[in-house]
Amino acid sequence: MAYVINDDCVACGTCIDECPVGAISAGDKYSINPDECTECGTCASVCPNEAIHLGE
Ligand code: SF4
Ligand code: SF4
Repeated sequence: MAYVINDDCVACGTCIDECPVGAISAGDKYSINPDECTECGTCASVCPNEAIHLGE
């Protein structure tokens, strides 16, 4: 399991520098590498658009 960024992402860039393991990649919509995410939840707490949630 890993955190996932949904279509509410507005590519603001806030989350990418907060990830301690560098699992977030930039793009039109940002994305999280599930093999690197440690589920710390930091990115979800800083996203101003609530676009990041724990995947199922
Ligand atoms: S939950 Fe933590 S490890 Fe996973 S992408 Fe977000 S900041 Fe990175
Ligand atoms: S903080 Fe939220 S809106 Fe901003 S780039 Fe990350 S996922 Fe997208």
